[in-house]
Amino acid sequence: MSGTAQQGSQTKEFQAEVKQLLDIVVNSLYTDREIFLRELISNAADALEKFRYESLTSRGESGEEVPLEISIELDDKEHTLTITDTGTGMTAAELVENLGTIAHSGSREFIRRLGDTDRKDLNLIGQFGVGFYSAFMVASRVRVLTRSYRSGAEGCEWVSDGIGTYTIGPAEGLGRGTKIILKLKEEAREFSEAQRIKGIIRQYSSFVPFPIKVNGEQINTVQALWVRNKNEVTGEEYTEFYKFLFNAYDGPLYHLHFTADAPLSINALLFVPKRNMERFGFGRLEPGVNLYCRKVLIQQQSEGILPEWLRFVRGVVDSEDIPLNISRETMQDSALLRRLRRAVTGRFLKFLQEQSQKDPEQYAVFWNEFGIFLKEGAASDYTHRDDLVRLLRFESSASEPGKLISLADYTSRMKDGQKDIYFINGLTREHIEAGPYLEAFKARGLEVIYTYEPVDDFVLSNLMEYEEKKFRSADQAGLELPALEAESGGEPLDADSFKALAQWFKEILGEKVGEVRESTRLVHSPAIVLNLDGMMTSSMQRVMQAVNKDLGSLGQKVLELNPRHNLIKRLSSLQEADPNLARNIAEQVFDNARLSAGLVVEPRAMVERIYRIMEQALAGREQ
Ligand code: ADP
Ligand code: MG
Repeated sequence: MSGTAQQGSQTKEFQAEVKQLLDIVVNSLYTDREIFLRELISNAADALEKFRYESLTSRGESGEEVPLEISIELDDKEHTLTITDTGTGMTAAELVENLGTIAHSGSREFIRRLGDTDRKDLNLIGQFGVGFYSAFMVASRVRVLTRSYRSGAEGCEWVSDGIGTYTIGPAEGLGRGTKIILKLKEEAREFSEAQRIKGIIRQYSSFVPFPIKVNGEQINTVQALWVRNKNEVTGEEYTEFYKFLFNAYDGPLYHLHFTADAPLSINALLFVPKRNMERFGFGRLEPGVNLYCRKVLIQQQSEGILPEWLRFVRGVVDSEDIPLNISRETMQDSALLRRLRRAVTGRFLKFLQEQSQKDPEQYAVFWNEFGIFLKEGAASDYTHRDDLVRLLRFESSASEPGKLISLADYTSRMKDGQKDIYFINGLTREHIEAGPYLEAFKARGLEVIYTYEPVDDFVLSNLMEYEEKKFRSADQAGLELPALEAESGGEPLDADSFKALAQWFKEILGEKVGEVRESTRLVHSPAIVLNLDGMMTSSMQRVMQAVNKDLGSLGQKVLELNPRHNLIKRLSSLQEADPNLARNIAEQVFDNARLSAGLVVEPRAMVERIYRIMEQALAGREQ
């Protein structure tokens, strides 16, 4: 396609708003000038898309068989960049209308704002339907040669150096479509280098669904998979696409490909990687979903499209309803984006729910890697809480080691009359099962969820309840457990002696405990430490102790003693016979109970005390 300007050209003034805009564009030193190419490619792709649609609906001309494509010719001697498309083209009237005026009031507002601020965010330019003018960021002169696809249309030429006026006239010998020739400014000559241009295309326009050629070589080899019918895409293609887009070495763990028409038009392709890189010390993950509008990249690693707790998800969301080139700031408070985020997030969680039913083992693999993110969501995001709660998994006293249960599993086998859901924290299953907290529940046949990470306790404390059943930490005081049918462990200490013993304990321990009392729940252990503040579990306290070493003992503690345990019974008599030894033992009972709770105990004092107790035990033997 070539063309020469004819006699009969007219010089026209730009509309005042266009002049204003050009003034800013031409004179601003803008760092992201490369976006001009995205804008021109996006216009070319739009024109091709429109032509394709028109020819499908057979309203356009026929007979002219040229491939639908975009070609870019670079001349690094003349410093020109020429971009040609075989799309709809424009008539003279359309040229005047489209490239000489700005119709939207919203765009005028944008220009007014641009003029006001020092930091000119020209990245917004496409969003306001004025992307074409970004060509003047890099070009001192722009020539547009174009011929409309409408039958009988004449070719025309539009030329401007971006200052005040443009000329328009007829042009001979043009094929269908548009050719835009940029005479590059001196400081923008990098844009006549093939490497530079190819890089920009790969970054912004890889998935434009028409071939983009640079000096004859096609650059965008990968197709926009997400707009294809998912029945026609092979697993291998998904894997290749994933690898290409995210520089991954292996395939994804999951992929979700879906389309929606209402209320928003969405084509999305989401991936869950195999590994959680945050766990490998790579630091906090950046958002991993790119936002497209009709296959044109609007924002890479878009922050607004998924909630933060889904930052491990990679992929593409394409929505025709999103304006091109929406900025990060606009993204945050756009109602449209919020609706899109809600829809995509909801669909993704539904997908996970389906996977957890269909293939629980695979879901367990997912959970072990990425469950931490869903917990983060469950603790922080009210919008999706109900969906997230259903996705949570735990080990429990009723599960086999390594096997996971859902809260629904738990509630489905709750005992008659059981009102609450019990959980207990501990470093490992072994720790929990060896400690004193589980025995009361075991003896009563109650299932207890095991939480190994403090975040679990934060989540459950935050959720408060599931299906109207309250979450209760087994280390909290004041749990109402059903009475045991048969008391075990022999005769208890008589009431008066126990009262005296408890008082004596309290005197010795002083402020370290809020209360010392009889335990109704212990079976095999002599003592247990419980929390008066039900929301503050021991594992949460551990975290706080780790952050602040001075916190000593946190939250009000209750020490419960087992009146049937031999150690407690003997201590009652030893209290008078050998007050010194009794005191050391009482203090050690308390420290042991705190150790069982996973709380930090000052080791030096404890070791010395144990030596004293051992010494006294040995001395007793010698007599
Ligand atoms: P937007 O693309 O948001 O409408 P632009 O400033 O990028 O705003 O383009 C203005 C208009 O110019 C487009 O809407 C389109 O009608 C027309 N146009 C620009 N480039 C082309 C092209 N390559 N082929 C056909 N029409 C074009
Ligand atoms: Mg545009």
